[in-house]
Amino acid sequence: MSTKFDVIVIGGGPGGYVAAIRAAQMGLKTACIEKWLDKENKPRLGGTCLNVGCIPSKALLDSSHKYHDAKEAYDVHGISVGKVTMDVGTMVDRKDKIVDQLTSGITGLFKANGVTSFEGMGKLLANKKVEFTAHDGTVTTLEAENIILATGSVPVNIPPAPRTGDIIVDNEGALDFREVPKRLGVIGAGVIGLELGSVWARLGSEVVVLEAQDQFLSLCDQDIAKEAGKIFKKQHLDIRVGARVTGSEVKKKGKKEEVEVTFLNAQGEEQKQTFDKLIVAVGRKPFTDGCLAADSGVKLDERGFVFVDEQCRTSVPGVFAIGDIVRGPMLAHKASEEGVMVADIIAGHKAQMNYDCIPSVIYTHPELAWVGKTEQELKAEGIKYKAGKFPFAASGRAMAANDTDGFVKILADEATDRILGCHIIGGHAADLIAQAVIAMEFGSTAEDIALTVFAHPTVSEAVHEAALAVDGHAIHIANRKKR
Ligand SMILES: Cc1cc2nc3c(=O)[nH]c(=O)nc-3n(C[C@H](O)[C@H](O)[C@H](O)COP(=O)(O)OP(=O)(O)OC[C@H]3O[C@@H](n4cnc5c(N)ncnc54)[C@H](O)[C@@H]3O)c2cc1C
Repeated sequence: MSTKFDVIVIGGGPGGYVAAIRAAQMGLKTACIEKWLDKENKPRLGGTCLNVGCIPSKALLDSSHKYHDAKEAYDVHGISVGKVTMDVGTMVDRKDKIVDQLTSGITGLFKANGVTSFEGMGKLLANKKVEFTAHDGTVTTLEAENIILATGSVPVNIPPAPRTGDIIVDNEGALDFREVPKRLGVIGAGVIGLELGSVWARLGSEVVVLEAQDQFLSLCDQDIAKEAGKIFKKQHLDIRVGARVTGSEVKKKGKKEEVEVTFLNAQGEEQKQTFDKLIVAVGRKPFTDGCLAADSGVKLDERGFVFVDEQCRTSVPGVFAIGDIVRGPMLAHKASEEGVMVADIIAGHKAQMNYDCIPSVIYTHPELAWVGKTEQELKAEGIKYKAGKFPFAASGRAMAANDTDGFVKILADEATDRILGCHIIGGHAADLIAQAVIAMEFGSTAEDIALTVFAHPTVSEAVHEAALAVDGHAIHIANRKKR
């Protein structure tokens, strides 16, 4: 087997595998090293995203949403389905099948594109050499003109709630519950906590989410966060902000175990609450353990992220780093686009990424999606802006679908009308946000969207109407601005 390559990628998640495919498409001799083994010790590509992140969580969100709709939302259409039941095992097996299909799909794509796959651990040595340790322990030294580090991230553990068996779990364990926990605790009201909390709440768990920050969804536009807070409350997600977990104790209860969590509430009073399962979802940290030899020359910042410039160059010429191990949002699409950019740069093309136009999504129902600046950021930066807002309650298509929660809000520069941000809470927010991302990528004004023809009836019309509302001209709500 060849040991010399143009490009070696360490890590086969959405950052690494996309970088490897793109590099191979550019005619570069490319290898990718991935260490992941599944529960049966089978090597797997796809990283966190495909194995225990984006895809499996969305599979469970979709299954639980269908169950919830069949139970609660069909009668209004005149459909009666009798007693609705959920076989959690079938739901989890379906999720596993999708993961299998997608991860083996990447193996197929590697073959089709001529990417050499190394199954095991990669370690960057000095002088662009890479030590590869196969799963059977065999060590080989590889070398390449360019190396891309894409080793991703792992969940943050907190001392008051260490992972224990299947009672206190991280996101991985929470994707594999074989029955619905009656009482579910979630530490952290971020994206992962809210998504996984929603899955199990829809299936009947009493869910309590403990969030240490005093403000709910502090990174979101607060208009969206407020609306989401009201809706989640109606969905019986008991979200407690300012709740700092100080301890946990797993106790025996008959043949079963449960966990007692101690926390300080927003008033600083000590409280205790007992759960059948506890999900710790307090964030993720970059993972570089065992990947960098002491003399590799690659520098980390004070939080453990690999230090890179705007084009993902590390402190060592010819060594790049992408995805969750570098600054910026920990998102699969950000990792993939960095992979494409770096592969293009290595192939000799001019490439860059627009970090101001990366969309974020929370896949609850309704979904929350946003891009660009929030109102609070614009205020803090002293930027004068206009806001246009349109509620889904006024959208014919949303009414037809009986899915009228939420709104679209577009923020545009007061002087130039250029779109600075878009914030959506609603049934199809994750897909709708692409319209704002494209508009912002093209430097559009709110008027550009207002002058665009949208198909009727669609929920997309809410984006059109929000753009019209920026100047007080939305048609289907009263929003005239004083002249
Ligand atoms: C529950 C959950 C839901 C999520 N949902 C979304 C979502 O809906 N949308 C979204 O955009 N993001 C989501 N994310 C985040 C997303 O999964 C990550 O941002 C993304 O996977 C990062 O990609 P990456 O390639 O940088 O790293 P990873 O996907 O973590 O991949 C890194 C890979 O490198 C391998 N590796 C590490 N060290 C070595 C080594 N030394 N040698 C060989 N291989 C190594 C690892 O085994 C891993 O496979 C979610 C995450 C979680 C946990």
